[in-house]
Amino acid sequence: IITDRLTGAKNRNYLNDISKQLFSSAKRNDTPLSLIICDIDRFKNINDTYGHFAGDKVLVQFSSAIEKTLRAEDVFIRIGGEEFVILLPYNNLDQAMVTAERLRKAINELSIHVEIDKITISASFGVTQINLKKDIDNNINQADIALYEAKRSGRNKVVVFKG
Ligand code: GH3
Ligand code: MG
Ligand code: MG
Repeated sequence: IITDRLTGAKNRNYLNDISKQLFSSAKRNDTPLSLIICDIDRFKNINDTYGHFAGDKVLVQFSSAIEKTLRAEDVFIRIGGEEFVILLPYNNLDQAMVTAERLRKAINELSIHVEIDKITISASFGVTQINLKKDIDNNINQADIALYEAKRSGRNKVVVFKG
């Protein structure tokens, strides 16, 4: 089982397998590979204000907007509650930054119907070009440092890991 039932994203089970494949093809072809980690901002507020069911609806709409913005070869994985990893084959850091910014905008432009309200959401993004000499967890940690900085400095932002 590699698909998350709620969002249709891949789940953590898929991460190790696909990472191995993408790492080896990036090495073999000498092509870049980048990673984005993203986390919905103030998601707890949505659950607290509108309930868990509305929170789930937000997760579905969020994921659908992400999928629409990505290319077919990109890999979208739900790694936790409202936290996602995106693997971008053939993308160097600059290209991944552009993609992350496109995703950030798409998310921020959503208008989601819950109860009688229309709500907007935002997400924060951490971006890194994969260091093929390190393992996937190390690379996720790098992106996570950038994500933390995006949250700390105000959210609804893309921050790049500077190694
Ligand atoms: P931040 O901007 O710092 O990311 O704040 P946040 O509120 O998004 O972060 P926090 O980690 O405090 O809260 C995440 C919330 O996500 C708490 C949890 O109840 C909720 N959550 C996790 N998984 C699901 C889910 O599948 N459905 C719903 N509705 N809520 C979920
Ligand atoms: Mg969050
Ligand atoms: Mg979180």
